Amino acid sequence: MAELTLDNVTKVFTEDDGNEIVAVDEVNVDIDDGEFLVLVGPSGCGKSTTLRMIAGLETVTRGEIALDGERINEKQPADRDIAMVFQSYALYPHMTVRENMSFGLEESTDMTDDAIASTVEETAGMMGIGDLLDRKPADLSGGQQQRVALGRAIVRDPEAFLMDEPLSNLDAKLRATMRTELQRLQAELGVTTVYVTHDQTEAMTMGDRIAILDDGVLQQVGTPLECYHTPNNQFVAGFIGEPSMNFFEMDVRDGSLRGDRFDYELTPDQREAVGDADRVTLGIRPEDIEVSFEGSDRHQYDVFVDVVEPRGDENTVHLTFDQGVEEPETFTATISGLRHIQSGEPVVATLPPDSIHLFDATTGAALH
Ligand code: ATP
Repeated sequence: MAELTLDNVTKVFTEDDGNEIVAVDEVNVDIDDGEFLVLVGPSGCGKSTTLRMIAGLETVTRGEIALDGERINEKQPADRDIAMVFQSYALYPHMTVRENMSFGLEESTDMTDDAIASTVEETAGMMGIGDLLDRKPADLSGGQQQRVALGRAIVRDPEAFLMDEPLSNLDAKLRATMRTELQRLQAELGVTTVYVTHDQTEAMTMGDRIAILDDGVLQQVGTPLECYHTPNNQFVAGFIGEPSMNFFEMDVRDGSLRGDRFDYELTPDQREAVGDADRVTLGIRPEDIEVSFEGSDRHQYDVFVDVVEPRGDENTVHLTFDQGVEEPETFTATISGLRHIQSGEPVVATLPPDSIHLFDATTGAALH
């Protein structure tokens, strides 16, 4: 078990024409011993590059990666005592499950054949693949292959696990089962884990903490609830949560926000947070908007239902200030799936002041 530290880690790729791409830009994060950290962000934000630098599959341009306080930048991948699980499983097709799992141990340890055999059987039992040991990867389902890939990593008893979208080739149901299984296993083994995904739901449900990257830059590191309730900036606010937070750019005038479609009266605390900014972005999550049929409060607005999108236990309602317009601008609210609301219906949307997020309209930084 070990603590993994990334100190100002930067990766610059130089293309053939000399053009430089900063794939990872001064990332700082301390991953605690035994912690499950999820690295999440949109495609191309630098997640895999970060993981590959930790694994030693990519050099570090600047900064330092340390395992338990010891710099590992220059160490060969095989000497790092870190196991990586890939999306593609990367199993050897000509080897049986037993051989796939034993291989790493034969290469990297001086364990006896008997000790290797019993460690492999014990791990396979724990992973529920004990009866598959003599099969080849081609004769296994996707879920079973994934278990073998994980088993192969676990059997090495590494200091840390790195996982790059390990569940993305599985169907939705199996993915959900494997998520829980992986979390249980990780907690049981207590091995420091960095898990990469582009799926914010996966990040929210699996991580002790999540690290959100955009364009190579770390936007926030925190527990899922911290990132959800107190996002550092508009990017994190929009990335975490499904459906996404609604944003309205507004002018600040006389202690209130003035928008194209509605005005919003700020509370004294919000006025203080806004300071002397003259333009801000108001954010509110769909699940924080209350939809009713009448109201008169100053944070309530007469709007119309554009489209109702049933999602089972919940409905996503697309609301608009623009009635009768062909392509109205809409925002979303989440309501109970049991409520009957129809397209075209006039409703009242309440934007409770407690649920409002405010961001600098230029930089996107949260205003607290
Ligand atoms: P995805 O979710 O799509 O896998 P990612 O977040 O893992 O994306 P990376 O694969 O780390 O992103 O890529 C980060 C950036 O670095 C991208 O702009 C990518 O094009 C660039 N990049 C990655 N590898 C190389 C390389 N070998 N040479 C040049 N640029 C690269």
